[in-house]
Amino acid sequence: MLQRLPASNIPGSFPRELLFASEKVIFETRPLISGFLAVPLIVSILWDLLWVGTTFATPSLVYNPALYFFVLLPWIWVLVRWRNWRGTTYALTDRRVVRRSGKEGTKLQDAPTEFIGKVDLDGNTVRFRFGTPAGQGALAHGGGILGNQVIWNDLKGAAQVQVFASEWISLYALKLQRERVRQQLLARVLADKVSCSYCGTLLPLGSISYDRPQCPSCGAPLVEIRPVAMTP
Ligand SMILES: [Zn+2]
Repeated sequence: MLQRLPASNIPGSFPRELLFASEKVIFETRPLISGFLAVPLIVSILWDLLWVGTTFATPSLVYNPALYFFVLLPWIWVLVRWRNWRGTTYALTDRRVVRRSGKEGTKLQDAPTEFIGKVDLDGNTVRFRFGTPAGQGALAHGGGILGNQVIWNDLKGAAQVQVFASEWISLYALKLQRERVRQQLLARVLADKVSCSYCGTLLPLGSISYDRPQCPSCGAPLVEIRPVAMTP
């Protein structure tokens, strides 16, 4: 059984228009805004304090337009990071692992669940590493990153997400294995053989007379024959 959803699940955070018709979202979340903005904000504020100090030392700078350019410059970085944060969402669906990122979410990276061999925890980053042979990279759309893993970074409760995701991947693998066994059994059922319902003998379809459909081993009828009414 699947354990409870991680607390960081944010229903509806992954855009539904990016899903396939019958695809279902299992877990979806957004990264922590602090992971995207903390460093640019600190750097920008320190940078601006430096300029405030410089202006105190040289008051005539207030009339220099270049001052305002330098003061505003780092905030472009903050703005870009904020837009990237807004565009970033992570989702685990009933068939793939997805990372949507970039300015306004223009990058989409996904990998079918069966590609994932291992889910690693690395600080507040969860890495879905591929277990399939080399050369099978993640499918990237619109400039996503190609590689051997799908990365979810700046996660809230990353450890819980990693446990949940590992469990989900294992369950998926088990389901896939069962499906493969079923397919193989099905192939045998359809393999041109008919079993006698009395003695269990498997009879190749070609060996049965359609005029007298009887089991050669026990003589039991294989099908019930109803006379066909013919109109001359
Ligand atoms: Zn028989």
